[in-house]
Amino acid sequence: MSVRLSGTPASPGVSIGPAFLLDVEEIRVMKKELGSDGEVEQELRRFHKALEETRNELELISEQVSDIIEGKQLIEVHILLLNDPSMISDVEHRIRGERVSAEYAVSRVLYDVLERFDSMKDPYLRNRSVDVRDVGRRVMANLLGTEREALKNIRNPVILVSRDLDPSQTAGLSRRQLLGIVTDLGGSTSHTAILARSMGIPAVVGLGDVAEYAVPGQTVIIDGIHGNVILDPEEDQLEYYSELKKRYNLAEAEIALNSENPAVTGDGVPVELSANIEFSQEADQVGRFGGRGVGLFRTEFIRLLAPEMEDDEEFHFRAYSHVLKTIAPDPVIIRTLDLGGDKFLDSIPTLERNPFLGWRAIRICLDRPEKFGVQLRALLRAARFGNERIMLPMITDQFQILRVRSMLEEIAGQLDRAGIRRGEIPPLGIMVETPAAVIALDHLLPHADFVSIGTNDLTQYTLAVDRGSPYVSNLFDPFHPAVVRQIEMAAGRCRESEKWIGICGQMASDPLAIPLLIGFGINELSVPITLIPDVKEMLKAIRMNEVRELAAESLMMESGEQIRSFILKYVESRYPEIILDEIHRDREDGGS
Ligand code: PEP
Ligand code: MG
Repeated sequence: MSVRLSGTPASPGVSIGPAFLLDVEEIRVMKKELGSDGEVEQELRRFHKALEETRNELELISEQVSDIIEGKQLIEVHILLLNDPSMISDVEHRIRGERVSAEYAVSRVLYDVLERFDSMKDPYLRNRSVDVRDVGRRVMANLLGTEREALKNIRNPVILVSRDLDPSQTAGLSRRQLLGIVTDLGGSTSHTAILARSMGIPAVVGLGDVAEYAVPGQTVIIDGIHGNVILDPEEDQLEYYSELKKRYNLAEAEIALNSENPAVTGDGVPVELSANIEFSQEADQVGRFGGRGVGLFRTEFIRLLAPEMEDDEEFHFRAYSHVLKTIAPDPVIIRTLDLGGDKFLDSIPTLERNPFLGWRAIRICLDRPEKFGVQLRALLRAARFGNERIMLPMITDQFQILRVRSMLEEIAGQLDRAGIRRGEIPPLGIMVETPAAVIALDHLLPHADFVSIGTNDLTQYTLAVDRGSPYVSNLFDPFHPAVVRQIEMAAGRCRESEKWIGICGQMASDPLAIPLLIGFGINELSVPITLIPDVKEMLKAIRMNEVRELAAESLMMESGEQIRSFILKYVESRYPEIILDEIHRDREDGGS
C-alpha cells in the first residue's frame, strides 16, 4: 500500500525511481588488540594510508564543487579537520600505547572529540560536530575498506533515501546516478537542500520518518515542487505524477526559451520581477529563469554554512561581489543579517520567551556594532562591482536607519583613509514587516531610499500569529483584511513620497495575491527563482485597469476567505489551467 509523506520542498522537479537507502554507519568498532611490534607498525601505515585516501577524496570533491563558493569552503573546513595534528597524534598514541587496531583507535579518538564538541557551550562550535563526524566516517570507511560511497557502483539511477546526509556526501554525488534525494532531517536551507538545488536534482527534506518506511528498491515519487513523497505509489498516483513530471520538464525547457521575455501585464505594463536568493551561487540561476535582479538576498546563509566566518570580512566580500557581478547591471538588494526569531535560534544566546518579539534582526546588528561593521565594510567594498542596494530588516523606528547610515559614512571614511577601494554608499532601504512601520511609514520614508514589504512577518506581527507554530497556522492569513489594508496603505504612502516599493514575502508569488499587489501599485515582486516563469505567466494574464479596480474593491471585504474567493473569480477566466489546478489543489488542502 502506498505511503504519502510531506516535508519541505528543497529542490524543485518531479522524479520517479527506485529507492536506495543509504545507511547511517556507526562509528565505534570492536576492540582488536595487536600482538607484535610489526602489527603496530602495520596499523600505523594503514592509518596514514586511510588519511591519504580521505584527503584525495576531499580534494576531488573540492574540485567538483569549485564553482560553489560555500560548498568549497565547507570541504576546506573538512580538509583542515582531517589534517589536525593533535587528532592525528592522538590516534598514533593509542595505536602504539594501547596496541589496538587503527579503526579502534580512530573510533575512540572520534568518540572523545565528539563528546567534547557536544558538551561545548558555544553553539557555533557545537554545530561543527557534524563536520567532525563526517570526516571521521570517511576515514573509517577507508580503513574498513567498505565502499562508503556504494553509490559509486550504482548503474541505474536511484532516489536516495536517508535519515540525513553529511555535507561532503551530498557534494560528492553525481547527477547521473541520482534522480532525487529525500531525507528525514534538514530544512530548505540545509546543506543537502542547497547542493541538490545547485545540481538540479529534485529533493524533499524534513520528512521525519521516510528512512523508516522506505524499502530498498521500491518505487518512490518525489514532488520537489510541493514537498510530497509517495512510497510504493498506486497506479493513479503514478499516472498523475508522470504527467506532472512531463509538464515540469516541458516548462523547464520553455524556461530557457522564454527567459528573455519581459515581465509585463496583459495590457503591456512592465512589472519588475526579481529573485529571492539565500546563497551566492543561486545568483547564477536568476537569468536562466528570466529574473531581472535580486529583490532579497538573505545573508543569514553565513550563519548556516560557516558560523565562524561571520567575522570574516573576505568571506562576506566574496559572496556579495559574486552576486553583484553576476546580476549586473540589474539591482541586487542585500539584506543585512536577519538573525533571531526562528532563524538560528540556537546560536543566539537568549532566554527570551518570545524570540520573535525580542532580540532579532536590526536590533541584534545595532547592539553588536563590531560584528555588524564587518558586514557593512564588505558591502561597501563589494558595491563597486554592481548595482548594490542595502536593506535593513524589521525596522520600527527612524533612529535605526539613521544609525546605520552614520555607520556606513564612518566606515566609508575609514576605508578611504586606509586606501581600500570601495563603491559609492548604496541606496539604503527598509523592510516593512511590522504594523508600526506601516502606520508610521511617513516618519520612516524621509530616511529610507526604498521599501520592501516582508509579508511573512507583517502577517505574523499584525495577526499575532507565530509564523512557525502549527497550532495557529490556520490563523496565519496574508489575505486577512488587516494585512491587505496595510499593504495598500504602504503602497499609497510610497507613491505619495515617490519611493520605490517591492514585496519580497511569500505572498509575492501567490497566484491569488498577484492581481491584488499589482493593483495596489507595487513596483516589484521578488520571488523564489524557480517560480519566476510562473509569475510571468500570471502577470501576462491580468490587466492593469482591471486589477486596480479589483484591489480597491477587496478593501471593502470582511474576511481573508472573501478576498480570496473574489480574486479567484477574476483569475478563473484568465490564468492558464496549470496554475488554476494548483490554486484549487491548495484550497482543497486548506492552504492559503
Ligand atoms: C518576510 O518576512 O516576509 C521576509 C521576506 O523575510 P523573512 O521571511 O526572511 O523573515
Ligand atoms: Mg521577515
